Amino acid sequence: MTDQADFIYFECQACGFDSVQKADFTGSDACPLCDGDNNRYSQMTQRICRDTDQPEGRDARTAL
Ligand SMILES: [Zn+2]
Repeated sequence: MTDQADFIYFECQACGFDSVQKADFTGSDACPLCDGDNNRYSQMTQRICRDTDQPEGRDARTAL
């Protein structure tokens, strides 16, 4: 398992949705599923991405 300091791993504690964004990501930290489904704000937790992360949502590592 290797840290990928160029990327951030986001995870919603409410519904489990996760995604990976570039380290310079400046968008919202609100979970898009909670926002879209329930119009409810859930702040996603952030940590350094690891190469073993397999996000359900967007994976910025594959968009290079
Ligand atoms: Zn959520």
